Amino acid sequence: MTIWNLGSINSDHFYRVGHLPAPGETVLSAGMERGLGGKGANMSVAAARAGSHVSHIGAVGTDGQWAIDRLTEYGVDTRPIAVLDTLTGHAVIALDDAGENHIIVFPGANREISRDAVGLALAEATPGDILVMQNETNQQAFAAETGSKLGLKVAYAAAPFSAEAVTAVLPYLDILVLNHIEMAQLVEETGLLPGPKLGVDTVIVTKGAEGCVLYDRKNGWDAIGFDAIRVDAVDTTGAGDTFTGYFLAGIDRGMGAEDAIELAIKASALMVTRQGTADVIPDLKEVLDWS
Ligand code: ADP
Repeated sequence: MTIWNLGSINSDHFYRVGHLPAPGETVLSAGMERGLGGKGANMSVAAARAGSHVSHIGAVGTDGQWAIDRLTEYGVDTRPIAVLDTLTGHAVIALDDAGENHIIVFPGANREISRDAVGLALAEATPGDILVMQNETNQQAFAAETGSKLGLKVAYAAAPFSAEAVTAVLPYLDILVLNHIEMAQLVEETGLLPGPKLGVDTVIVTKGAEGCVLYDRKNGWDAIGFDAIRVDAVDTTGAGDTFTGYFLAGIDRGMGAEDAIELAIKASALMVTRQGTADVIPDLKEVLDWS
């Protein structure tokens, strides 16, 4: 099957700092690197490296051909990515010695994806394929509705969190992945908890080094906790994206939610021992061989 990912593509600029700047403070950076990122690109690379066939629906600017080339190199089908007469999205990531980060994202082309481009791409989808989105592009609600009508399994990573964005796709979702901060915001702003009122079959709340919690309709949405693997974290950027990409790849290959989560926990723990985003996401063999 195919995982269709309506997702962002960014040029990530990493700046190493001794500590994250406080408001009004200027800090000097000891080093700078550029790489492929964006929650969408990260998830596409993660799912492709986990062995799935991934088609990425998105857009870059005229300065973004390198990003398309790199996604292709990582095994992602990039045909549904448009090159628009604008700037490619980019992120400025400050990273401190403890592996914590501050991130600023400029969406650029990621917010200028046309409805036609999404419709044309999804016209190639087969019922049972997976559609995943995050909140860094436009066209999420249209894609979710179209995907749902076509019989796709619709998944959403509610990041960066917006109650409005998640509410717009909620009626079409089968899978919702969000971190504990985003879950708290969802509850505060909508009053909805995993269960019949939220209406999403599978909800996963990730909690960084504390692991994650699964709420599945087939268990009456009772909370099932999973521990993370203890590692020395170097850079937690992209942990959630790697987790979601691997989880969906697991579902794509027929695993149940629990087994797919175990795979995702392993992949994301290995990921946080590395600095970088899409360029350093481990492949399935590395994840399975790692103990
Ligand atoms: P996000 O990056 O979206 O904020 P989390 O930080 O919750 O997401 O991380 C997602 C998953 O990645 C966690 O559920 C966990 O399995 C793994 N992970 C994240 N940080 C660590 C860590 N420091 N050590 C081990 N695993 C981690």
